[in-house]
Amino acid sequence: MATFIERVPFQDAEIAVLRHSTEIAEDLISNHYRISTSEWKRYRYDIQSLKDLREEEITDEAFAQIHRYSTSPHQRLRGGERGDYFKICLQDHVIRRAIERDAHILLLPLTAYIITHELIHVVRFARFLQRFDSTGVEQENEEKRVHAITFHLLHNCQIKGMPEVLHAFKDCRTMETFLGSSP
Ligand SMILES: [Zn+2]
Repeated sequence: MATFIERVPFQDAEIAVLRHSTEIAEDLISNHYRISTSEWKRYRYDIQSLKDLREEEITDEAFAQIHRYSTSPHQRLRGGERGDYFKICLQDHVIRRAIERDAHILLLPLTAYIITHELIHVVRFARFLQRFDSTGVEQENEEKRVHAITFHLLHNCQIKGMPEVLHAFKDCRTMETFLGSSP
């Protein structure tokens, strides 16, 4: 029988932590991939949490869902650039369950871990290093690669509780699901 999880969105204090972990993750990624601030603006993604998700963007099975759209909602603002737009949909209720289950797992390191992992996917999609539609072995290998890069980026960073998160989730099989759709 599936466990019922109540889908309660993050409250203000948790959203503030999320904002902090997003900054940490974006810094790590832009340094690692040597992406300048102006280049970074061309990566077409948003990170949103439960309160801003549509029904089909919600899952109870993973920390996040990456939803690919063939056009960006910001398209007109960005002067006709082409390419896919990725919405990283964080699943507040699944994240909260992991924290409540284990007192050693804290929100800041866990969300920094999740967002770093998801942004690596986004960069690899945007650079065509990863196909969005890959399946089976290819997808499994890609997931191992992204886990390895995430570990490499985070294992030396001085965030309280990060070692515990790395230990618990370094091979996590349910980081995200992928969802592609037309606009
Ligand atoms: Zn992944």
